[in-house]
Amino acid sequence: MESALTARDRVGVQDFVLLENHTSEVAFIENLRKRFKENLIYTYIGSVLVSVNPYKDLEIYTKQHMERYRGVNFYEVSPHIYAVSDNAYRSMRTERRDQCMLISGESGAGKTEASKKVLQYYAVTCPASEQVQTVKDRLLQSNPVLEAFGNAKTLRNDNSSRFGKYMDIQFDFRGAPVGGHILNYLLEKSRVVHQSHGERNFHIFYQLIEGGEEDLLRRLGLERNTQQYQYLVKGNCPKVSSINDRSDWKLVRKALSVIGFSDDDVEELLNIIASVLHLGNVQFGGEDSGNAYITTDTQIKYLARLLGVDGSVLKEALTHKKITAKGEELMSPLNQEQASSARDALSKAIYGRTFTWLVNKINDSLAFKTASYIQTLSKNASVIGLLDIYGFEVFQNNRWEESNCGLYYSIALLCFQWEPVQYFNNKIICDLVEEKFKGIISILDEECLRPGDASDITFLEKLEDTVGGHVHFLSHKLADGKTRKVMGRDEFRLLHYAGEVNYSVNGFLDKNNDLLFRNLKEVMCMSENKILTQCFDREELTDRKRPETTATQFKNSLAKLMEILMSKEPSYVRCIKPNDAKQAGRFDEVLIRHQVKYLGLMENLRVRRAGFAYRRRYEVFLQRYKSLCPDTWPNWDGRLVDGVSTLVKHLGYKPEEYKLGRSKIFIRFPKTLFATEDALEE
Ligand code: ATP
Ligand code: MG
Repeated sequence: MESALTARDRVGVQDFVLLENHTSEVAFIENLRKRFKENLIYTYIGSVLVSVNPYKDLEIYTKQHMERYRGVNFYEVSPHIYAVSDNAYRSMRTERRDQCMLISGESGAGKTEASKKVLQYYAVTCPASEQVQTVKDRLLQSNPVLEAFGNAKTLRNDNSSRFGKYMDIQFDFRGAPVGGHILNYLLEKSRVVHQSHGERNFHIFYQLIEGGEEDLLRRLGLERNTQQYQYLVKGNCPKVSSINDRSDWKLVRKALSVIGFSDDDVEELLNIIASVLHLGNVQFGGEDSGNAYITTDTQIKYLARLLGVDGSVLKEALTHKKITAKGEELMSPLNQEQASSARDALSKAIYGRTFTWLVNKINDSLAFKTASYIQTLSKNASVIGLLDIYGFEVFQNNRWEESNCGLYYSIALLCFQWEPVQYFNNKIICDLVEEKFKGIISILDEECLRPGDASDITFLEKLEDTVGGHVHFLSHKLADGKTRKVMGRDEFRLLHYAGEVNYSVNGFLDKNNDLLFRNLKEVMCMSENKILTQCFDREELTDRKRPETTATQFKNSLAKLMEILMSKEPSYVRCIKPNDAKQAGRFDEVLIRHQVKYLGLMENLRVRRAGFAYRRRYEVFLQRYKSLCPDTWPNWDGRLVDGVSTLVKHLGYKPEEYKLGRSKIFIRFPKTLFATEDALEE
């Protein structure tokens, strides 16, 4: 093949490993800048792909481009997301190992776009049959649907993913995509009822109102004016110039049919979306006694019809709370404020559970259909997983969702990176958040379960008592009983690898309990809406056991994800956002330097420069050095990991100098390995 590289492709270096001054961050950023100015947004650090969001259409994603990267070696062509995709695909095929692609970067850096490019690449370049074509279409069409319900306009990104997503693409023995599966994490439910200034609710609400057909809106009792709805006015941002809600509506409707949603499914789904808007408009007045009552009946009428529930039961449930006193159930009235938050809790629960239902429904449609197919697959199938890591930002102040984000991020850093440098750095903080009995999550759960005066502040106090001395934890309270003036009395600070993050404890307990009054749950369980009957299970009402708290659920689902990822060979894509103005051509150096730092790119480079010195597969390591130890010479019969362990202990490696991974040994300092090499020569 003729070399596909032109002179322009060679601006700067296309692999940072080739930089003359590889320890200089200035040189690193200069190389990024040079290439960015030439619209060369991709650069490697070894096999890691660094991508800078161009904020414009570069026309580098055509079918011709895809063809150019098919089956070609990394270095024969300019860096591209297609090269990484193709490489993962080929490793899967030739080495028969499952792959995963870990895409990280801050909000607006281009993670979701990158994951879509990967999917498109496979959809176009992999072999197809008629059956496979349906799968490909469904895989592709799952994106607009999930984005409609799970993405929103934020200050940082007009199409920001407000949930974490991991998607498996399954391939058969011929390398054709035959199925998929999506795992979703931690949807930002609070957005349903509140948006910050300049931000919007989830796209679907605007799409429905702007694009929905006349008779549809009439049936749902909706007006074609987003500003009529309390849940859509908080951010004071009805329109976004980069978004066309009306045409997006058409795309989403079409995507839903491609995925296999029946007209009934869609009808029930839209009934729910409309209900959430009506719920937001339910207003409460206060009687002299302070008890709340509902001031308008129109919404209740629509809600009763759309949700298939009894209007008067719903009304009572929205203004009362069921309590049990001396074995008897009583309805205790709520005041205005309590009623409003009960209403919002209901909206969040309905939306959140419907989102999960949606993901499950998509998964049903992506699953293989015929038994013989499953058989062929179970023998020869392989998987490529795509992880679009939820945007992480270092905020001034972090609410619950972001705190989980931070948690997600630190765990992500810990587990997703093979570089020992980062491994050593993040272990501590992860323990701080996670550790079984004295970690932050378990303290939070404990406070949530404790009857009596437990509050956000008592939670903070418990934290101070338990982890106050931890080097990565700070609060206003100093060890000697004095107070640290710069911090509020309701916040704590975690020193993440990425930087310091403040968390306000306000609302932590409620959020963690995900409080939805029992009688509202009961009403939902009685709903005739077919989706809601699946979302609200009667079991929940009879079950005396407390459901798992949000943080614990999240922790467990993350643990599962880790397991999935650990069983696969990873590739890495690191996305960088060039400026905060979402503008093409602007390269904001301060912002970029910050990202280079927290993405750990200089460490990536250092490790890559050292090449094999840092990590080696067990069998390779053992084969090369087994002669240095009588126990491993001439052959080691046991498990490879034990052989390596015996060998390095004999060589006098100190515990902090190395780590034993799943299939490789990681060595922290090159000098360690050099010394071993020297021993071999002697
Ligand atoms: P979040 O964490 O908020 O979900 P993200 O990292 O997923 O952020 P994207 O939604 O992928 O960010 O990208 C933000 C926007 O940047 C896109 O809507 C698109 O306009 C632009 N963009 C990203 N990548 C590219 C690309 N390769 N080419 C052109 N434009 C891009
Ligand atoms: Mg995204």
